[in-house]
Amino acid sequence: MIDTSMRYDVCVVGAGPAGSTCAFYLARGGLRVLLLEKHRFPRDKICGDAVCRMAHPHLERMGVLQALLREKRARYTASGGFVSPAGVRYAGDSASHDGAQLVLTVKRVHLDEAMARAAAAAGAELGEQRRVIGASFEPRRGEWRIQARARGAGPESRFRTRVLVAADGANSPLGRALGLIRSAPQAVCSRAYLKAGSHRFPYDGMVYYPRELLPGYVGIQREADGDVNYCVFIVPGGRYASRDLRRVHHRLLESNPWITRDLGTQVEGERMRAAPLRMGGIARSFGDHLLAVGDAAGQIDPLTGEGIQYAIEGASIAARTLEQAFAEGDLGRRSLARYHRRWMTAFGRDFFWARQMSRLQARLPLLLDAFADLSNERGMDFMIQWARIMTGIQPKRDLLRPGLALPLLPAIARRAVKGVRPRHLTLFRSHRE
Ligand SMILES: Cc1cc2nc3c(=O)[nH]c(=O)nc-3n(C[C@H](O)[C@H](O)[C@H](O)COP(=O)(O)OP(=O)(O)OC[C@H]3O[C@@H](n4cnc5c(N)ncnc54)[C@H](O)[C@@H]3O)c2cc1C
Repeated sequence: MIDTSMRYDVCVVGAGPAGSTCAFYLARGGLRVLLLEKHRFPRDKICGDAVCRMAHPHLERMGVLQALLREKRARYTASGGFVSPAGVRYAGDSASHDGAQLVLTVKRVHLDEAMARAAAAAGAELGEQRRVIGASFEPRRGEWRIQARARGAGPESRFRTRVLVAADGANSPLGRALGLIRSAPQAVCSRAYLKAGSHRFPYDGMVYYPRELLPGYVGIQREADGDVNYCVFIVPGGRYASRDLRRVHHRLLESNPWITRDLGTQVEGERMRAAPLRMGGIARSFGDHLLAVGDAAGQIDPLTGEGIQYAIEGASIAARTLEQAFAEGDLGRRSLARYHRRWMTAFGRDFFWARQMSRLQARLPLLLDAFADLSNERGMDFMIQWARIMTGIQPKRDLLRPGLALPLLPAIARRAVKGVRPRHLTLFRSHRE
């Protein structure tokens, strides 16, 4: 039962991965935390469901990882790879190679509920079906007045809190109302679950780079229940705009030769749904007694569209900074600016390189072709280096390290000067229907 007369230390708005992680750590640290979510769990969230490695230790601490694996609601991705713009395919099995479990796949309907319940079990008060509709700061008292409305035309409730954390997703009405965000999310992505039994997807996860879609891509992940998650990312800088998403989503699913080869042509599933992505980080994610975390802070990799691990890592940094600020008795803007610096150092600066890579990929698709050539020549060791960078374990600037960049240069030159080499023409053909 939420106590409307009490003054909370922190009110977190939004119980996605960012909000629940932040609430979990703060409550565990002994602070009085209110976590408000406009939906009731279980609730779906449009997503590719690929949870990269940086998130795993946090999920383990929350008890969520073990439970989801035990209940067979999550599974690690082992086999997979990518298909380059020219159709060169590389696929391997990373688990049998070095045991690296880089990506966990879990439907958000399960993940988000488990995380919110973990935050509640740690002591946060979880208010479901409470949409925050207003927040105003009273500098003299050093506290926020929060207005929330119960589902539908339900009654309005008011809460007081010393700190407000906006974890309300890519559109972040709160972040916009409070002046942290001034622009719309830049990218958009579709999702459709395709039913187990109706597809013949042979991998755990695969990325497809149709030339027309660059710098966007198609991602397919196998879920623990055998469904596959089919996503099309449209990223700025390419041929398509957000309004093209529905058409491109269906056309690729129905007639792209690489995708139909892997899924079959008789797939059944839900209708396409879509949601926006705010990528690359916002300029200022803090204010007086105020932080923004996760998608609200734009903590999504501009190259891969992945944001769950950054939402979780960023939220843990926010919680650490807030605990410190409470201990020091200073919740002002300068004190909370440390949060922004810390997440920028941890992963935000690398978004710059991710954005450069995304642009380069769109201008020079043969880079990906050369990479696929090399992966086929050198095998899994080479591929795992790439996968570690793409999943954020190593920074994107490591793509420039000699071990990766030097072998890539002659491969690019071969592609540029000679065109497609006969060996790869064979490969290309052998992988088409
Ligand atoms: C189609 C698609 C595919 C994606 N695929 C991947 C992927 O495979 N891997 C990956 O890592 N990332 C992926 N992402 C990005 C990922 O979904 C986000 O980065 C992640 O969900 C961010 O978590 P969050 O907690 O910040 O926000 P969200 O998950 O959006 O959670 C925000 C929460 O706030 C609640 N809320 C909003 N407004 C209010 C309000 N006023 N009052 C109360 N509650 C409110 C919402 O109901 C929601 O529960 C994808 C995104 C899209 C759109």
